[in-house]
Amino acid sequence: MDLNLKGKVAVITAASKGIGKSIAEGLLNEGVKVLISSSNRENLRQLDAEFSEKGFTGYSLEVCDLNLKSDIERLFAKAILEFDTVDILINNCGGPKAGAPSSMNDSDWQKGYEHTLLSAVLLTSLAVEEMKKNKWGRIINITSLSVKQPIDNLTLSNAFRSALTAYAKTLSLEVGQYNITVNNIMPGYTLTERLDHLAAIKADERGIDKAEILREMAENVPLKRLGKPEEIANITVFLCSDAAAYINGTSIPADGGLIKTI
Ligand code: NAD
Repeated sequence: MDLNLKGKVAVITAASKGIGKSIAEGLLNEGVKVLISSSNRENLRQLDAEFSEKGFTGYSLEVCDLNLKSDIERLFAKAILEFDTVDILINNCGGPKAGAPSSMNDSDWQKGYEHTLLSAVLLTSLAVEEMKKNKWGRIINITSLSVKQPIDNLTLSNAFRSALTAYAKTLSLEVGQYNITVNNIMPGYTLTERLDHLAAIKADERGIDKAEILREMAENVPLKRLGKPEEIANITVFLCSDAAAYINGTSIPADGGLIKTI
């Protein structure tokens, strides 16, 4: 299937590692020009070395801490300066702090809000203006299966990703007339540093090995395995394409069947 994405311009956040990095790679494989950002300069440097080694061109890198509005504005300005426009926006973020509702203080809530919800809203508002001019756009938020089935102990993720999903739906009602689609992807257990970190927390709590926690997670998935970051990237790249032009205002799970809803 020709995805017809060659020459499009994408901006992706929190993409030096894990799911974001795989999505950047997937888009580059389709000939998309990608502005890749992350809060961590050293991680970006390592990514640059790896992508150069793989022979990728047509990408640019920018440090962007999603908790800083000034960084978000600078990221968008760089996209315009280097690539003239933005056709595709992938709102990814680092996972917000884990913990039970009773363990969260005001500052945790504020940081979680800025990182998980406000950053996506700010960047989306900037990108939409470009997409309207182009009469074409794709906005994709990487959320979580927690939107359909809240996960124990992930208070901030559960709360703010649901809010982001409601914002995305509302936005899709406004911008569909400009041929802009807005969708969310809900990863299930996907083997990245984030999942490893969450497994380590659970392992500590239960006094067992992290490998045992990861094995239990995999056992809960109908496909009996954890997801790979490239499996989230594949559906994301498809949603960016013209082949997915009539998919709008929805959330798509990529979870091996883990969510127990019909
Ligand atoms: P990861 O921890 O492997 O990678 C996160 C990326 O975010 C890194 O590149 C990191 O540098 C960047 N980052 C962290 N804080 C940042 C900040 N303040 N500003 C900008 N960038 C920042 O995570 P992942 O597993 O790839 O997950 C990506 C997203 O998907 C997360 O929001 C996560 O909660 C969500 N998710 C992951 C899973 C999973 O099983 N891995 C499941 C559901 C949802």
